[in-house]
Amino acid sequence: MYNTTAGLRQAFLDFFADKQHQIVASSSLVPGNDPTLLFTNAGMVPFKDVFLGAESRPYTRATSSQRCVRAGGKHNDLENVGYTARHHTFFEMLGNFSFGDYFKQDAMSFAWEFLTKELKLPEHKLLVTVYESDGEAFDYWNKVIGVPAEKIIRIGDKSADKKYESDNFWSMGDTGPCGPCSEIFYDHGEHIWGGPPGSPEEDGDRFIEIWNLVFMQFNRTADGVMHPLPKPSVDTGMGIERISAIMQGVHSNYEIDIFQNLIKAAAELLNVTDLENKSLRVIADHIRSCSFLIVDGVMPSNEGRGYVLRRIIRRAIRHGNKLGASDLFFHLLVKTLVKEMGAAFPELTQKQAIVEKMLRIEEVQFAKTLERGLALLESSLAELKGTVIPGELVFKLYDTYGFPADLTADIAREKELTINEEAFDAEMAAQRKMSQAASGFGADYNDQVKSEHESVFKGYDNLEYSATVVELFKN
Ligand code: ATP
Ligand code: MG
Ligand code: MG
Ligand code: MG
Repeated sequence: MYNTTAGLRQAFLDFFADKQHQIVASSSLVPGNDPTLLFTNAGMVPFKDVFLGAESRPYTRATSSQRCVRAGGKHNDLENVGYTARHHTFFEMLGNFSFGDYFKQDAMSFAWEFLTKELKLPEHKLLVTVYESDGEAFDYWNKVIGVPAEKIIRIGDKSADKKYESDNFWSMGDTGPCGPCSEIFYDHGEHIWGGPPGSPEEDGDRFIEIWNLVFMQFNRTADGVMHPLPKPSVDTGMGIERISAIMQGVHSNYEIDIFQNLIKAAAELLNVTDLENKSLRVIADHIRSCSFLIVDGVMPSNEGRGYVLRRIIRRAIRHGNKLGASDLFFHLLVKTLVKEMGAAFPELTQKQAIVEKMLRIEEVQFAKTLERGLALLESSLAELKGTVIPGELVFKLYDTYGFPADLTADIAREKELTINEEAFDAEMAAQRKMSQAASGFGADYNDQVKSEHESVFKGYDNLEYSATVVELFKN
């Protein structure tokens, strides 16, 4: 039961249902309650208003397996896909939530019980972090649960002088609910590169974060003062693919059942024999995000959410092309995805035909330009002196061939080359100026170019909050 992802999902929900949690179905990837957030990127997103007290529900404890996408905005894991063992653009976040009901200690006890009693993970493989000044959490892990002190790591705020990225304090925005976090890590073993959280090697994949517990303890007002909340809340998130990997005795998320079946299907379509091929992993990852985004009503387009979707689709097709794809392949993977995930997500099964059609249209459209664009890029790179790709070339590919700049950046990274982004920006600015002159529209184009630049290279940020930024899961 625990050695399949489907079994694990059910076990988690049942475990918390037994502890009086209401099982809540996954919401859409397009957040219904927050037009400024690009995609649902954590389990707590659908409950945001409940935490804020703006919405009430007939329960104070909930559990869910929420579909999430982190491919743009504050959380962008697109560039990590294929490079780490633990990141996807689309993943499921298992969570348990307390809306002013239980707090810190119960949250820690529940998590530990689930991992060590229910799943029977060996305690010595686990490691926890607490917020540096959260002595209460430290003591509870140590004295009540029995985690040895040397396996409890104190993590402070992200600071400029730190080279690494740890941060164990969560906040919903500049003001509002906030509080310390505690995370649970799993040690996959010495043979894998990486260091414990808080060390310079923490980004390696030896110690993998599996579960993040957030203790919403304070309300921060505009003057920066943190007032204790009368009824503190709990929000937790555990990536199902990461815990699945542990239960299936593998290191990488890409080796779990769902991914292996997607990878095998892709390998068959593309005639590839090496199932560990990085491009196969990218394709298996991208078919999930693209399909579920379409299920949730996102359509490929040249702006907003649709542009993020289009870029992911094009990236997948490019990786297929890299593997020698001679025919359309991407939309044919939907069938396998439905087989793997359709039971847990009936909306996927219902919309299978639409998803296939949409992806096929994109595939046909992009296939035409891909080869010409790639040919130009390859021949230009053959003549390249040094390791910097001229921005003018990147612009030409983007402008003439519909090659998203991040696609060129992806190719550049594989070849250990960089891009002259300044020159690219200048080309974009010049183009904008020309089209403005043509339309007689004299806005400050610098701002627009800047946002354009961010959206082509860094992912999509335009929809993000300005003043009260909702920094979901800042850590
Ligand atoms: P990491 O530090 O590994 O990037 P995170 O701290 O950004 O993870 P959280 O925002 O705390 O992740 O999300 C809660 C949980 O969701 C994580 O502990 C992890 O299990 C899972 N998770 C987060 N991002 C991803 C992703 N891109 N792909 C798969 N699982 C993820
Ligand atoms: Mg992350
Ligand atoms: Mg985290
Ligand atoms: Mg983290």
